[in-house]
Amino acid sequence: MIVLKNNEFIERNKATIDMEDRGHQFGDGVYEVVRVYDGEVFLMQDHLDRLQYSLDEVEIKYDVKEQNLSSLLEQLIKKNKVHDGGIYLQITRGVAPRNHPYPKNAKPMLFAYPLELSRPLQAQANGIKTILQKDFRWLRCDIKSLNLLGNVMTKQKANNANAGEAIFYRDDNHVTEGSSTNVFIIKNGKLYTHPADNYILNGITRRYILFLAHKLNIPYKEKVFGLTELKEADEVFMTSTSAEVTPVVEVEGDKIANGQPGPISQQLLEAFFQYNHVEQLT
Ligand code: PLP
Repeated sequence: MIVLKNNEFIERNKATIDMEDRGHQFGDGVYEVVRVYDGEVFLMQDHLDRLQYSLDEVEIKYDVKEQNLSSLLEQLIKKNKVHDGGIYLQITRGVAPRNHPYPKNAKPMLFAYPLELSRPLQAQANGIKTILQKDFRWLRCDIKSLNLLGNVMTKQKANNANAGEAIFYRDDNHVTEGSSTNVFIIKNGKLYTHPADNYILNGITRRYILFLAHKLNIPYKEKVFGLTELKEADEVFMTSTSAEVTPVVEVEGDKIANGQPGPISQQLLEAFFQYNHVEQLT
């Protein structure tokens, strides 16, 4: 495997991280996961814009455009002959003696490498079970930060319950998102998802689904909904770069409608590949 370290391509076994890298010690860094279909990054510019947003919010001085990151990622894909899969990339604040405040002279450290991702066809055909989890994460979920302990603990809880995902809620009237996905509900033909604010990550797939809903004339609204609306929805589905659109057929033991993936989720999943040559969402 060839790994991108800053702007150099190196072998996997040379891709080591310093003990005092702040990403390693503080989770002081941000990341992206992009999907590669047919050798091309899907919605590259949207991912790079979100990466720049996360970098700016935490004041890591790395300019995605100046560093020509999109071209570096294209080279990484070619060097690794990625046809269908993904790329993980992270940028940390760099290496400095351990101390909480931002160090003056640390240089941002980028690593990127291919991920094996295959389409979740079975989960998409059958739908998945989910559990609920009180959202105990911080209040800047809009930043795609390396600090994923709350998400990791929650995904493990879902695994232990033989569920495919856990859905977070701040209180009974406020469902936020999944542990690594955004959540949508459909009621009476209308699509609802949480507004893009500090309580959720503004998923690129979430935004793509809103774009598809617009194209397909499916009415939609970005609005907070609660646990009752979730459980009484006609359809529920989750979205992410790796899950694409995956229907949810059960929430904490309660079946959604008849317990089968619903028609609008299906329609959106089919449309997913009709429009996937769109260059950019914004
Ligand atoms: N929400 C969280 C907490 C995530 O970790 C992710 C993806 O990793 C998403 C939502 C979906 O984002 P995207 O569609 O950009 O993959």
